[in-house]
Amino acid sequence: MDARKKKPGKGKSGIAGIVFLLGFIGVMCVAVVYTTTAFKSAAPTETPPPGSQPGETQSAFPYISPSVSPPAHTDPPSDPPSVSPTQSPQDSQYGLPPTLPPIPPPPLGNLKPSGGERDGWMLTLVNRETPFSEDDAPPSLEELPNGLKFDSRAIGALNAMLDEMTKQGLSPVVCSAYRTLEKQTALFEGEVTKNMDEGLSRAEAVEKTMQSVAYPGTSEHHLGLAADIVSLEYQRLTERQAETPEVKWLLKHCAEYGFILRYPAGKEHLTGIVFEPWHFRYVGVTAAKEISENGLCLEEYLS
Ligand SMILES: [Zn+2]
Repeated sequence: MDARKKKPGKGKSGIAGIVFLLGFIGVMCVAVVYTTTAFKSAAPTETPPPGSQPGETQSAFPYISPSVSPPAHTDPPSDPPSVSPTQSPQDSQYGLPPTLPPIPPPPLGNLKPSGGERDGWMLTLVNRETPFSEDDAPPSLEELPNGLKFDSRAIGALNAMLDEMTKQGLSPVVCSAYRTLEKQTALFEGEVTKNMDEGLSRAEAVEKTMQSVAYPGTSEHHLGLAADIVSLEYQRLTERQAETPEVKWLLKHCAEYGFILRYPAGKEHLTGIVFEPWHFRYVGVTAAKEISENGLCLEEYLS
């Protein structure tokens, strides 16, 4: 009861307290609104991080999911500028100068193929820069009807292709398939000797031989996935082989069986080997079609 009586006695000072409190809240509200507005207007003037040009972030950072980007109408995120690639929708609202340098493409060095570790055994690259390693050796070999050997995983495709050629009335001859390191060395040395007999020094003869015979260890015949196929009527390894009906058929149909012409004309600077219309390499049907339809060599396809 005493408490009730005391309340009216304190009425005036209570009202004054409420008025003061309301006034204080009002001041605080104004301060908060001012601060928020100031923050919002200040945010867009922050120096944009380099490389956050609109429109380019998607292609330069394709591995960043677009779903990470903030919605276009939310407040600027409090993330540090280092996440700028995800902020492109907003950067465009900030009127960035159009002179910002484009984002350099990501380095590709570590994406380049290395031996048989990229995309499986069918696409193993062997050339002067990527020599054959024992890891690339075929796990098992099978014999062709003429006794030459081929990787047992791909010999079915080779035999099917040769069978079809025979059905078409053609006479293909596989004159070389799997080669050991010793065999390649003997072939290479034989050609060097021939060139030296024509008057070249050994260094010159080696250089000339390397244009047509792969240096031992750099031949993809070591993989057991390459076959030299010529016409029964014309068995010489010259460019004229391209005019035989057998090689003409192969150039048109080999991709259907997973083979490519490995050393095409015009790609010598990439393959390091002259035009060899007889050398066919198994890479699988998918890669073979992509390579031939786009006019690539294996080096280009794998880079
Ligand atoms: Zn060959």
